[in-house]
Amino acid sequence: MKVLVINSGSSSLKCTLFRMPEREALAHCVVERIGEDEPAISVEANGATWARPCTASNHEQALDAALGALLESGGDALRSLEEIGAVGHRVVHGGERMSGSAVVTQEVEAVIRDSSVLAPLHNPPNLVGIRAASHTLPAALQVAVFDTAFHRSMPPAAYLYGLPYELYEQRRIRKYGFHGTSHEYVAERAAELLGVPFDRCNLITLHLGNGCSACAVRDGRSVDTSMGMTPLEGLVMGTRCGDIDPALFFLLGNELEIAPGDIYDLLNRRSGLQGLSGKSNDMREIMADAERGDPRARATLEVFCYRVRKYIGAYLAVLGAAHAVVFTAGIGENCPPVRRMACEGLESLGIRLDEDKNEAAVGREALISEDGSPIAVLVVPTDEELKIAVDTYRLSRAP
Ligand code: AMP
Repeated sequence: MKVLVINSGSSSLKCTLFRMPEREALAHCVVERIGEDEPAISVEANGATWARPCTASNHEQALDAALGALLESGGDALRSLEEIGAVGHRVVHGGERMSGSAVVTQEVEAVIRDSSVLAPLHNPPNLVGIRAASHTLPAALQVAVFDTAFHRSMPPAAYLYGLPYELYEQRRIRKYGFHGTSHEYVAERAAELLGVPFDRCNLITLHLGNGCSACAVRDGRSVDTSMGMTPLEGLVMGTRCGDIDPALFFLLGNELEIAPGDIYDLLNRRSGLQGLSGKSNDMREIMADAERGDPRARATLEVFCYRVRKYIGAYLAVLGAAHAVVFTAGIGENCPPVRRMACEGLESLGIRLDEDKNEAAVGREALISEDGSPIAVLVVPTDEELKIAVDTYRLSRAP
């Protein structure tokens, strides 16, 4: 059976086609500039990649273009649309109701719509993608996989803010967390690698990409995570500031007369690695400058790693004991110096990195702690699309 995984953004549609249960990614395609000038499609299938302009004034047309391109791509990627038995949709916010992936029903659509206030940039285009796929592939089961669902198991002590309780009761203001699909995928894989049953596995998973978040996993369930009501909280990220004194919002407004919308933009798009370095949100550039001795790049790197280290320590306290710390995503998978600096000084807590194994582990699964380290350290490349395909396939087989 083929499963199509769709990530629908405001002006883009990304599709990956899987053969299941073999977990084989057959083709990937991206339609960009939907509803804008000169939309274009790029395709990777059967060992070839190509790109061309396409018609995509809305998401339905974009999906038609994507499916047409997959059919055209030859080989055995996709011979007819009937081969697609199910479609898995990445949905950012499932609010308080969704604690797992779900077959799309009117009720689930209502949850996605109602949660749009919490993710106004993401949930509406996610829903548009679901509607387009339901229309174009009416025989296929539609499944929603939520970025927040894995964190639904957090206890109130972790998700409530120290704010008037009415704000939670009336407006659902609380920590939700994101990157759940990635944290769950790498946590499950880490448990497999460690040979520990997932429901007895305690882990600290660190998704360090352009967006960054940490997650404390107890007995296979998320019990705390660093992103909050929005993806701005927690670790220092590519362009987002992570944890700051919330009074800064008031001070930046009052003292510097920056409008609220501009402050929001500053914290989300002009902070993090970008803001600290003044140059780039890309860790590769920061690393290169730091190696050349640039003090600002060095400070940027130190702030980034210090914050990761602080969360490892905090989550060890949350868990009491952990089987492993797991690094994933662009930086976590590919940047040994960040992993080294993040684990520095944690030997007395049971984290002993092996320098050589760490240096050698780039872009692949690896155990990078010393033999006998009380807490293992792992690199596990994330694969959110595959996780969506697995959940979608599972629900398509459910009685
Ligand atoms: P992601 O959001 O998971 O795609 O991660 C993207 C980020 O990973 C980029 O912005 C880079 O900062 C970082 N990255 C990718 N490759 C490397 C590398 N070889 N060394 C350091 N950072 C990397």
